[in-house]
Amino acid sequence: MILQKLIEHSQKLDMPPAGYESVPIKYIFDLDENGKFIETAILDGGAGARDTGILLNTPTQANQKAAKLLVGNGEFVFGVRKPPKEEETKEKRTLEEKKVAKRHQEFKALLEKCDRETSSKLIAAVLSFYKTADYKEIFRNANFDSNNRISFRINRKYPFNGEEIKKFWASRNKSSATKSEDIICHLCEKNPAVDRLPTKIKGIPNSKATALISANTNAFESYGLHNSKVGPVCTDCAEKFTFTINHLLSDEDSHLTVGKQVYVFWSKGGEFSPVKALQKPDEFFGEMDFGKSDDPEEVKLMFKSAFSGKKVAIDNHDDKFYAAALSATEARATLRDWLETTIPKAKGNLVQYFTNCYIKYQDHPHGIFSLASSTVFDARKDLPPNTYTKLLNTALKGARLPEDLLYRAINRAKAEKKPITHPRASLIKLYFLTNSKHKEINMVQLDTKSQKPAYLCGRLMAVLEEIQAGALGSTNATIVDRYYGTASTAPATVFSTLLSGSRHHLAKLRKGKPGYYTNLEKKLQEVVSDLHEFPKVLSLEEQGLFALGYYHQKQERFQKTEKEEK
Ligand SMILES: [Zn+2]
Repeated sequence: MILQKLIEHSQKLDMPPAGYESVPIKYIFDLDENGKFIETAILDGGAGARDTGILLNTPTQANQKAAKLLVGNGEFVFGVRKPPKEEETKEKRTLEEKKVAKRHQEFKALLEKCDRETSSKLIAAVLSFYKTADYKEIFRNANFDSNNRISFRINRKYPFNGEEIKKFWASRNKSSATKSEDIICHLCEKNPAVDRLPTKIKGIPNSKATALISANTNAFESYGLHNSKVGPVCTDCAEKFTFTINHLLSDEDSHLTVGKQVYVFWSKGGEFSPVKALQKPDEFFGEMDFGKSDDPEEVKLMFKSAFSGKKVAIDNHDDKFYAAALSATEARATLRDWLETTIPKAKGNLVQYFTNCYIKYQDHPHGIFSLASSTVFDARKDLPPNTYTKLLNTALKGARLPEDLLYRAINRAKAEKKPITHPRASLIKLYFLTNSKHKEINMVQLDTKSQKPAYLCGRLMAVLEEIQAGALGSTNATIVDRYYGTASTAPATVFSTLLSGSRHHLAKLRKGKPGYYTNLEKKLQEVVSDLHEFPKVLSLEEQGLFALGYYHQKQERFQKTEKEEK
């Protein structure tokens, strides 16, 4: 189970002690060994006016509203109320003041409990401070903001860093969180399970801090269809996988946020992250001489060298690579999918993926966002979340691209003024090259030898478009605007009409630009002579071929024009 792999990964990280969490602390009360007040200190986290202090590993609790040992805001630590947000009635005020008094009582009760169960002199000093000093007065005089976190130091030492205190807190958390001794954590199969997870995941799009509550039973291929509860887990295991997820979410190289989902990546053994290649391929492959080669093998070698980089060491065959997809609603996070493979395999699959997407006419590879967006009108609104999972499954695992992505790309092509964009062409090519029956097709550039009627029809569309543009210049509604949809699904119904229309355009060109005319007439004959009859209907895959034929022919024309201009 992937949660176990996350727990394993936590060993590589600098984890806080059990029951501790890294939070910002703003004010410190410095005391001597007898609890005599010395001075206050303000910790500056460097965040300016809204600074909340410096991050320290301190005791935490699953219940965010409960008192924590040695750390809290002004209400807990000194019983001094936060300033009310608006005017309030007398009743409301009395009620709030009662709540604050209770919080402060809870805070002191925890210290007393700790004092009874440990022999910590530091805790004794803090308690003695409470007994002897007019602490509310000191706090108010310092003009501190009750919203920020406060803690103590005894002779410059933080009590919560003591081993004895860490042990006390860990065992207290365990016993207070345990639901039943009978239910054992399914991850470590050792500790009793708890009903509330102690720490929360931070950084999933559209959610506040959330607890991981459900996970898929199946692996990546399931595309998030089968959800189930995470299962009974103990405090220790939950802290470890949550900490690891938070760590991955805080590092831009180890996570990829796409829409409402976020993917985290980590490895065991070697170090490897696919994030930059998938997210910003133009930067990742920056120095590559992209778009020059028409030989897939050569292209593959080029991508391969980018992934092996300047590292001398060779990846070990057992080095593992993991990915997991998370999403969240208000308060619950779900582990949707995951993937487990080895680093060399993931790299090999990525090289193959970029090679499969490669088309000579593009000046850089396209990121996973562009490919996914090419299947819908508005990626922010219309994109099914599993689109990214399907693409990642192809990129990292070498899985075939499912047909529904081809279907959606083709549908978008029919609806848009510019039917085939660079990313859409790449996606269609990726579909063909990952579905084995089409492996013989190269598709890197215009294939003048292909006799496939669908491909030839696509080429013809581009030639007719060029003829129209040559004769009429730019027009409001081109034949592509008006007929691409029909031409790519039922060629026989429109091409005869389009061809006879082109005769007029050619006649006009012949008078005005005879050189250009000859050139276009030749191009037209070259395509038409291979087309014996127009197909009545084209299947989905044939529509894909049509799209590529159109795209290749059109790009070839731009390449020529560029060359001629030079
Ligand atoms: Zn456990």
